[in-house]
Amino acid sequence: MRERILLSRCHMSGNEQKWIDKAFEGDWIVPLGPNVDEFEHRLGEYLGVDNVVALSAGTAALHLGLVMLDVKPGDEVICQSMTFAASANPVKYLGARPVFIDSERETWNMSPELLEEAIIGRKKATGRYPKAIIPVYLYGMPARIDEIMEIADRYNIPVLEDAAEALGSEYKGHKCGTFGRYGALSFNGNKIITTSGGGALICPDRESADRVKFYATQARENRPYYYHETIGYNYRLSNVSAGIGCAQAEVLPDRVERRREIHRRYADGLNDIPCVTVHSDPSSDMRSNYWLTTILLDPEKTVVTPDELRIALNAENIETRLLWRPMSMQPVFADAPFYTRDDVGRDLFDRGLCLPSGSCLTDEDIDTVINCIKATLAQ
Ligand SMILES: *Cc1c(COP(=O)(O)O)cnc(C)c1O
Repeated sequence: MRERILLSRCHMSGNEQKWIDKAFEGDWIVPLGPNVDEFEHRLGEYLGVDNVVALSAGTAALHLGLVMLDVKPGDEVICQSMTFAASANPVKYLGARPVFIDSERETWNMSPELLEEAIIGRKKATGRYPKAIIPVYLYGMPARIDEIMEIADRYNIPVLEDAAEALGSEYKGHKCGTFGRYGALSFNGNKIITTSGGGALICPDRESADRVKFYATQARENRPYYYHETIGYNYRLSNVSAGIGCAQAEVLPDRVERRREIHRRYADGLNDIPCVTVHSDPSSDMRSNYWLTTILLDPEKTVVTPDELRIALNAENIETRLLWRPMSMQPVFADAPFYTRDDVGRDLFDRGLCLPSGSCLTDEDIDTVINCIKATLAQ
């Protein structure tokens, strides 16, 4: 039988072992070390920025981004509702309160209109402006980040971009993650490149990058004995994992192009099915890395639900996944304020499905998925 077609399987370059061997040769089986420095350097070059700090996870990067923005108990932080819980959880780690914003239909990301409504609304409700704004680039799709930045700047609220899914995505030729004060990346096993587990925080300058490294290594003050004036974390990336990252960084541009090709093949293969819309760059300003290709089903044109399609594809040994269930629909965030007009996130969740999109998939694999989708929806 054919091998299972997975959603986003890790894709090695073949050079990873060489970098891991380097770590062993130099006895650098530690957090920090030359591979970490090299990985940070490569990421910075790719992104066109000077200060990137490698960390143990994307979630850690978001957490430290909020620490750097001085988020404290009682503060409010604006966050995109339709996302993975890791975007919002760090707000809670700091005792602050998330305020959720619905998506707009073109990008599926934070609605700039609702963002401004929420900023004004929270000032009225609490007497204070929110402390930070976390937009997300879902499935790699750029947000309307120019408008979001313009509003954020007008109210003087810093932006922390959750670019965990969007490494290599661009808005008007600039890389996602480099617009706000901070930007978080993830190298989890299913992301566009992997370190087996890891993340990074894009920082505005050397001073803040040094401060992030300080927090990430237990906040040890520069003294001959252990001395702490503040609470620290153990969030640095291991030198072994960073070696995997160095080899992965070499092939990052190829990985982005392959995911874009996969998206194009799905779009071409599915565009004659009236009930299916393939989510695609809404304008030439946006260039998604298409971490995952996603589709929407039109319930007026098919009785098949996304979950029924998922089950049918699973029976054919194809892994798909429903979209992120918005934070506004999660019991754990039931008491958080939510700004919406017609609950776009819920509608997307009800109608959407993520298709296998890993860069190691073959054209034949994609065609198999397309044919199974067609067969299921034709019934
Ligand atoms: C993967 C992901 C994260 C978390 O990254 P980890 O490296 O798994 O901690 C955060 N936000 C979004 C949107 C993600 O997809």
